[in-house]
Amino acid sequence: MCGIVGITSNNDVTARILGSLKKLEYRGYDSAGIATLSDGNINEVKCEGRVESLEKNISRTNLQGTIGIGHVRWATHGKPSTLNAHPHSSEVVSVVHNGIIENSTILKKLLEKKGYRFKSQTDTEVIAHLVTDYLKKDNLKNTIVKVLKKLHGSFALGIIFKDQPDLIVGARRGSPLAVGYGPDENYLGSDSYALKAMTNKISYLNDGEFCIIKKDLVEFFDSNAKKINKKILNLSKNDQSIDKGDYKYFMSKEVDEQPITIKNCVNEYIDKFNKQINIYNFPWKIRDISSVVLIGCGTAYHACLIAKYWFEEHTSLDVTVDVASEFRYRKIKFKKDSLYIFVSQSGETADTYAALDICKKNKMKTCSIVNVVESSIARDSQLVLPIHCGPEIGVASTKAFLGQMLVLYLLCLKISFDKKIISKKKYSEKIKYLLSLSNLTKKTLKVDSKIQKLCKVFANAKGCMFLGRGYSFPIALEGALKLKELAYIHAEGYPAGEMKHGPLALIEEGMPVVVLAPRDDHYKKIVSNMQEVISRGAKVLLITNKSKNEIQSENIWETIEVENISEDLLPFLITIPLQKLAYYSALEKGYDIDKPRNLAKSVTVE
Ligand code: GLU
Repeated sequence: MCGIVGITSNNDVTARILGSLKKLEYRGYDSAGIATLSDGNINEVKCEGRVESLEKNISRTNLQGTIGIGHVRWATHGKPSTLNAHPHSSEVVSVVHNGIIENSTILKKLLEKKGYRFKSQTDTEVIAHLVTDYLKKDNLKNTIVKVLKKLHGSFALGIIFKDQPDLIVGARRGSPLAVGYGPDENYLGSDSYALKAMTNKISYLNDGEFCIIKKDLVEFFDSNAKKINKKILNLSKNDQSIDKGDYKYFMSKEVDEQPITIKNCVNEYIDKFNKQINIYNFPWKIRDISSVVLIGCGTAYHACLIAKYWFEEHTSLDVTVDVASEFRYRKIKFKKDSLYIFVSQSGETADTYAALDICKKNKMKTCSIVNVVESSIARDSQLVLPIHCGPEIGVASTKAFLGQMLVLYLLCLKISFDKKIISKKKYSEKIKYLLSLSNLTKKTLKVDSKIQKLCKVFANAKGCMFLGRGYSFPIALEGALKLKELAYIHAEGYPAGEMKHGPLALIEEGMPVVVLAPRDDHYKKIVSNMQEVISRGAKVLLITNKSKNEIQSENIWETIEVENISEDLLPFLITIPLQKLAYYSALEKGYDIDKPRNLAKSVTVE
């Protein structure tokens, strides 16, 4: 993961690098650092912890320079510490790196034999020494080509050179990297968001490419140093609100934004006048698609799992769901009539990108569902379906999850309609429900006060379970994931019917169990499963939808009722109390909700 920035300018760059690092902090926040060049010296300031600490450290030094690189780290090799923080410098170069150098141990041994001494435990430091070593015998461009060929694994790199007061090298394999263009200055960044305060003119490096950035010139090269031309994209300036407003955390703001993001997304895809779903530029004939493969990681994977139920119910397609990190290494039998769908909020998730790349190489039909439309996954897919959620900053995904589910649902209905599977009447009915979803989400957000009271029990629990059946099973997984991510409580999501096959042994007196039992086809069965855990001492929080009918069960600890909508759209509403539960449990424990320990937002390493 981690974030990289670089600036070369006529003016001092330190404050602006710090500003960009603050924007990149969602990518990693265990340590941070900056290196600049001034008077022919490399100057470094690094520290463990957040950019805020780095800023304080910098204010105590006289760090300045008209060229510099910066980094926020999500440690892969070597614990989070000042010593392991990037940039990593030799006598002559300084390097920031996002990714993993898989052959760093071998390279380190070779370099040590040559007399190079290592200060950190990172895989990155080998790059600094390797560049230094090649520079002794070769010019800068050849050095970069040779070094990149030596490195195995994934990387985005920013490198500055002691004897080059106006030159930054950027290079990419696997991890994302953007170049920004300014007036008499140019930039390097992990994403365009980091550079947005300085420019909206952006180019992206593709895998295997590198670039040389000077104040008044940017050149791009392929892996053999052959010059290539790049398009400069003009990004929209209407940046959606990315401050917390009156909220304490981005997450609570993003949860509350869900009615708006659903509305935006529905407006983008549904033609209200003709009452139909529009997916423009659909590049294939509908009859050429007879199966879908849904691929994602974490929360996006859970959105895929729900979509499996929808596709099975509303279409005749075969559906497979896969975790990207497994898909990429399996011996997949690719099928020409399959549509491969990749779901990722950032569009930079390394495993999902790798899975897409494999499908691309096998000439499969590829579709991505992303929030960041300029991302690598979006750029490399044949069809891009944005979720229109606006920036999601909280590390634990909330509004993007609803956005991903929504776009998957719309795609499913569209395919069903185009294949003439769903009747016109049912299709119109579904569209009507979709148009009411935003409002019902808004009403469901009012569960707040009740959940606040319950979260003490969860916050003090040694573990808890989330049970569901049918559509509610993936939501149970997502609810458990949110509680793990934010409140660091061991939580398991389970299909309720599986409890008797083992997990029931975990239930003990007072253990909180969240049972998702909307009044759908599975209701009666899950109520019985709920009785089974209550009988064994569980404290059940039941989440269901409003109904005139009483719940046929005794000894339920607490019940939360969400609004009513069609069964297949209830997953949207029952997700909301679970987001709130995780939020308030984490708040109760005093944790940093937007930046949970050990995690980062954009998972750009394997
Ligand atoms: N592998 C490098 C490290 O552990 C970079 C990690 C990252 O991409 O955040 O320092």
